[in-house]
Amino acid sequence: MTDLADRLAAVRSEIEDAARAAGRDPGELTTIVVTKFHPASLVRELRALGVRDVGENRHQEAQAKASELADLDLAWHFIGQLQSNKARQVRRYAHIVHSVDRAALVDALARREDDPADTPLTDVFLQLNLTDDPGRGGVAPGALEALAEHALASPGIRVRGVMAVAPLGEEPRSAFARVRAASDRLRSLAPDARDISAGMSGDFRDAVLEGATHLRIGTAITGSRPAPR
Ligand SMILES: *Cc1c(COP(=O)(O)O)cnc(C)c1O
Repeated sequence: MTDLADRLAAVRSEIEDAARAAGRDPGELTTIVVTKFHPASLVRELRALGVRDVGENRHQEAQAKASELADLDLAWHFIGQLQSNKARQVRRYAHIVHSVDRAALVDALARREDDPADTPLTDVFLQLNLTDDPGRGGVAPGALEALAEHALASPGIRVRGVMAVAPLGEEPRSAFARVRAASDRLRSLAPDARDISAGMSGDFRDAVLEGATHLRIGTAITGSRPAPR
């Protein structure tokens, strides 16, 4: 086996262990392999190893890879901060946008009257900012309900749940417990919005214990990232 295959297998088995430790069915977890800064050829290798869900955080890079790999059956997850003026382009290739954190971005992703009638729904996660730094991506937890109400009233948008990155300087488990509480609040507005996008290479076990359904894992599978270009 290649190193990539070894790392993928090791992470998959750790995820299964974590799910069992949490009393959860591993089949309810989606593992997204974050391929940012890596070439399209790595995504192709991952697809050959059975990976379907891949995550990218920069629009230009994601768009180029999605178009180069259009022959593969992949689901692209957009996980980075997103400018509203790029949103409609991202909507064309991204199956799920994990980083929706403001009403203007919801509006930019929503269906418009001049969209073709068969335009697919855009699935979104509402990203929470768990830090005190408003410059970080995400909505302040106290503003989640207002953003959710806006998204739920917007045509063409399907709210899947909440997303977050555990902040430095806090135990990931307690950060993810806050995400779970926010998820409960969201579900009281939108019972179907039950997914939780949380957990990265260093903390996915804690995320699984706190109910994460979508894990975003980069380096533990891909190895270290090349420098951004
Ligand atoms: C890069 C990134 C990840 C993956 O991080 P690793 O530590 O490499 O697993 C997950 N989520 C977001 C939002 C990212 O930008």
